[in-house]
Amino acid sequence: MAADTNRLMELQEQAARFARDAKLLEADQGERRDALAQVAEHTEGFLSQLDTQPGYRQTPDMGAELEGFDIESVGRSLELALKLFADNVDYPGSHPTSPTHFAYIPVSATYYSALGDFLAAVTNRFSGNFFAGPGAVRLEKVLIKWMKQLVGFPQAASGNLLSGGSLATQSALVTAREVLGLKPRDFEDSVIYLTEHTHHCVTKALHIIGLGNCQQHQVAIDEYGRMMPEDLSRRIQEDRRKGLKPWVILGSAGTTNLGSVDPLTALADIARQQQLWFHVDAAYGGFFQLTEVGRQALAGIDRADSLVLDPHKSLYVPFGTGAVLIRDGQALYRSHMHSADYLQDTMTDEHMHDPSNLGPELTRHFRAVRLWLPLMVLGTRPYEAALNEKICLARYAYERLSEIPEVELGPYPDLSIFVFRFLPSKGDADDFNTRLLTELTQDGRIFLSSTQVGGRYFIRFPVLSFRTHLDHIDLAIDTISQKAAALSC
Ligand SMILES: *Cc1c(COP(=O)(O)O)cnc(C)c1O
Repeated sequence: MAADTNRLMELQEQAARFARDAKLLEADQGERRDALAQVAEHTEGFLSQLDTQPGYRQTPDMGAELEGFDIESVGRSLELALKLFADNVDYPGSHPTSPTHFAYIPVSATYYSALGDFLAAVTNRFSGNFFAGPGAVRLEKVLIKWMKQLVGFPQAASGNLLSGGSLATQSALVTAREVLGLKPRDFEDSVIYLTEHTHHCVTKALHIIGLGNCQQHQVAIDEYGRMMPEDLSRRIQEDRRKGLKPWVILGSAGTTNLGSVDPLTALADIARQQQLWFHVDAAYGGFFQLTEVGRQALAGIDRADSLVLDPHKSLYVPFGTGAVLIRDGQALYRSHMHSADYLQDTMTDEHMHDPSNLGPELTRHFRAVRLWLPLMVLGTRPYEAALNEKICLARYAYERLSEIPEVELGPYPDLSIFVFRFLPSKGDADDFNTRLLTELTQDGRIFLSSTQVGGRYFIRFPVLSFRTHLDHIDLAIDTISQKAAALSC
């Protein structure tokens, strides 16, 4: 068919007309410099106030202004966008970057990790396979290798960076399911052994991967909140006698609730004897391997079949960064590999190491840069020091609280988390501590969260942020004592 010249000219004109508006998507150099300067001014303002930022801020409308600005066909100024962001996103709610944020698992991201994200976003390399992003894949390989060495995994182990501990757990359990060859007819008889302190992402992952009906048996814990190996052995034998099929032992290397570390060596021995899969959830605790105290507490972690780490917790990178490590690297590949005709060009010799063949994502955040850049520039020494400092601070906080006669403390911290509560001279303890926490949250200077241990209300005291130092702990203990004293009057 001969091209119709008029038709072609018409299309050329139309395209040119659209291009005039579409061009707004490409900021020119001047605009880029200006926009970057404005964003940098915003982040500098944010960072310069960190030390006076409360751990939690209650405001009348909690950011509602944002919803008055619908997305429209014509844009508004960057200045307005940043102002809205500052007033409604930066300001209300909990402040994970605040050094006095002691709730849940305290987090914080180094500046180099944020710059890593910026680099990854601007260059936007595809990190799913070697063919497209050889450097991106190698960069991730360097990180996985470092993590494998840190936990004492063999060279043949493999791993993947995912959005967090929850998805990493999912990948680990899928791999266990595939390696052990569990079929739907086995699901209801299969038993996974955990404790009351196992993170809920395990139950969630089992449900999502179709194993919601498998049996989850809670093994007894000792007074430190650690799984008791004798009870585990007894239960496995009992379950086998009943014709059930034990398949996974789930150890925690630092529980979210109590910070307790299960006796990993003893659990690994049982897993080997019984030929079960040994999964270790080290989402919070894993990077304490960088410290002497951590290596002692986590002894046996190297014997896990699968392991979950959360760099967005103890490695100080932005949210959205978890890692799974699998001892038998081939198994991770076999459990996740799928391909398609339109990917035929990407099947290089390296495809067994392609992140997209080792996890559920095809196109993925190039999250390796936010880890690699700070580790490259800073080295591991400052991380080791920060985590050692956190161990000291948690012990210091524990010992200071132990001087208050009304305080009941949970176990001494294995790493950097413990729980406490007040025992008031009159009235209900759960009620008193609930009111104490509400008072503290309203005051806002420090932010703590609560939990249940043995059916009783406890306040958690985790220390993890690299920005938290001795003066913040002193402020926390003083504030807690004052508020408790005021409530008792
Ligand atoms: C945080 C945490 C998880 C879940 O990880 P996410 O990154 O929040 O998905 C799992 N286990 C433990 C022990 C944790 O502390």
